[in-house]
Amino acid sequence: MAVATERARRPDSFSQAVKESVAARDLCPFCPGHEAMTPPEVLAYRAPGMPANGEGWWIRVVPNLYAAFRPEPDGQEQRAGRFWQRDAIGACEVLISSPDHRAPTSTLPRRQVEEMVQAYVDRYRHHAQNAWVEHVLILYNHGRPAGASLEHPHSQLYAIGLEAPAFADELDGARGFYRANAACVFCRTLEDERRAATRIVFENEAFVVFAPYAARTPFETWIMPRRHTASFGDLDPSREKPAFAEALQLTLRALQEGLNDPPFNYFIHSAPAKADVADAYHWHLELIPKLSTAAGFELGTGMWINVVKPEDSAAFLRERIQKVAEPA
Ligand SMILES: [Zn+2]
Ligand SMILES: [Zn+2]
Ligand SMILES: [Zn+2]
Repeated sequence: MAVATERARRPDSFSQAVKESVAARDLCPFCPGHEAMTPPEVLAYRAPGMPANGEGWWIRVVPNLYAAFRPEPDGQEQRAGRFWQRDAIGACEVLISSPDHRAPTSTLPRRQVEEMVQAYVDRYRHHAQNAWVEHVLILYNHGRPAGASLEHPHSQLYAIGLEAPAFADELDGARGFYRANAACVFCRTLEDERRAATRIVFENEAFVVFAPYAARTPFETWIMPRRHTASFGDLDPSREKPAFAEALQLTLRALQEGLNDPPFNYFIHSAPAKADVADAYHWHLELIPKLSTAAGFELGTGMWINVVKPEDSAAFLRERIQKVAEPA
């Protein structure tokens, strides 16, 4: 378990009336003009000739000040009796989606969503090649109940030196399926889902959006590349990048407009950098809206009571996407 006392001191821009107010924007470390409020950037897309850590960017990535993980590879151990503690090792970054304080991904220009995806790829590749990095996780929290502590839309990246437990189960399952069937379980799932069609939300030339058969929560939605690829870092820039941006944005827009802008989390699951799972694993994005509070039953048993059938949530989102999709 990672213990992170720093996180208790995160700033809170959601409290009471300051939300959406000018005051909140004045204090926002992610708004243009406030670059000095963050640690120096590790990546920014800005016009040529513009100085680093100034204005003029459209994507900016900075180390997370309130990180749960620290990049020192020799995490210090502390012992006190039978208690043992080691600082969590890793890098933690914030990827600011756009200079606009109030523009969620669903409303950004499509080109800007593609730039956000490009930043994901750039930082993913940067960390995945690092010798001590086992796992690179990119995630997005929307809304206070989903854990977003700052209003300005941003994603987070964690590069950690261990395999995340929730992810290890999925990886083990994929390995087991591959051993038994010499096939990728995710490719097989895509085939089955496309044949059944009832849980498909959206498809374009490179991605399929669907409600998984064993959805844990109402409106849980997955976005998966059609091409078998284990690592998100291998996203094809000309074909897959625009298609991924389209699938992600339309799904988020359908969610926002169809379900009254619910809080949500999404995260990208990608093969661990050092694992030999190129044939068995298949990267994907999992989107989990927060429409109900996980009750004691779910937390205690690990079993999920799903009040909306995945076929019904897929039909609802499918219809919504047809309404919100603009002609390209
Ligand atoms: Zn801002
Ligand atoms: Zn596959
Ligand atoms: Zn997954």
